[in-house]
Amino acid sequence: MSELAIHGGNPVRTKLLPYGRQCLDEEDIRNVVEVLRSNWLTTGPKIQEFERAFAHVAGTREAVAVCNGTAALHAAMHALNIGPNDEVIVPAITFASSANAVIYQGGTPIFADVDADSLLLDPDSVISKVGPRSRAVVAVDYAGQPCSYDLLRDIARRFNLALVADACHALGAALGEKPVGSLADLSTFSLHPVKHITSGEGGVITTDNPALAERMRIFRNHGITLDHRQREAIGSYAYEMTDLGHNYRLTDFQCALAMSQLQKLPGFLRRRQEIAARYDAAFAGNECLRPLRTRADAFHAYHLYVILLELSRLSVNRDAIFGALRAEGIGVNVHYKPVYLHPYYQKRFDTRPGACPVAEKSFESMITLPLFPEMTSEDINDVVTAVEKVLGYYRR
Ligand SMILES: *Cc1c(COP(=O)(O)O)cnc(C)c1O
Repeated sequence: MSELAIHGGNPVRTKLLPYGRQCLDEEDIRNVVEVLRSNWLTTGPKIQEFERAFAHVAGTREAVAVCNGTAALHAAMHALNIGPNDEVIVPAITFASSANAVIYQGGTPIFADVDADSLLLDPDSVISKVGPRSRAVVAVDYAGQPCSYDLLRDIARRFNLALVADACHALGAALGEKPVGSLADLSTFSLHPVKHITSGEGGVITTDNPALAERMRIFRNHGITLDHRQREAIGSYAYEMTDLGHNYRLTDFQCALAMSQLQKLPGFLRRRQEIAARYDAAFAGNECLRPLRTRADAFHAYHLYVILLELSRLSVNRDAIFGALRAEGIGVNVHYKPVYLHPYYQKRFDTRPGACPVAEKSFESMITLPLFPEMTSEDINDVVTAVEKVLGYYRR
């Protein structure tokens, strides 16, 4: 076995392979430039065109475009009227903004544990966290796999909670025949460059409820009922601010990019699934790790490929493995540290280690491997070679 790069040996790659990146082509660029030459740079015709196309993909009546995925979560919390004294149940393992959005509204996020094999929100843990102030559940489709919406919908109905999907990992995923986007009362998406499709920054909320969609359209425009183009169309200067909102609008040239990228989503998903299948095959039978468990009736969008290290079979911890893989030129990552362990949460909500034991234990063994549509066959081989090299060295 060749010497590890971290010990001075030759790395598997000399140039770091990132864990994710955008996939743009000349057509995408042309579509953006076309809007840059038009009359509308923001709040123009591209927004509605994109919202309709996105709603079609999500299988919903409505889609509302906003300036990023965090704004999408904030708009969802606002549409549901989350406020002070309200609690919203959020999984411990997620990006911080799933929980931050609750706090923007003055509410309190309550963290529920995840399933040890899939890292998806554990429905039993949700039930154990429901209290008299609970108003909503945010389910995160971690890594691109839909949560158990069948069970979560029943729980939401039983306790009279709204169900929100933070589907930022799962554009294009489905559970049975039902696309992600249509599985909860409100579903949020991000158009950040590492996500399935990008507009640089961008976000979308999907829903079948037109009243909630209307509230979110007003919210993204300062709380004003008529936008710029609607006023021009009726020939009036007058508008009314009926609510306190934000400027969470997406520009038309970003929307042109999102629209162009949306056409390519099926191909992106196919490639992500192919790469995941290559990893699955390469790691089957490797006793030092296990990939996340997937459901047979789910169409997985594979935003991330996450492995859980079998630490009992290794002589070092996750951070050492992480450092060794980085030294080999593999841009591994970790998604995510339990949100309530961040200093802000510990200080503000007095959260403590021990609150969600499965999440904390999983955090110690998780590593995200590179996965993005433009990875080549050699890139995939490099990742597999580096993982086998490093785990083989530290195996005990
Ligand atoms: C990316 C992401 C967000 C936030 O999206 P931004 O567009 O970066 O604001 C929220 N939740 C999850 C789970 C995400 O992965």
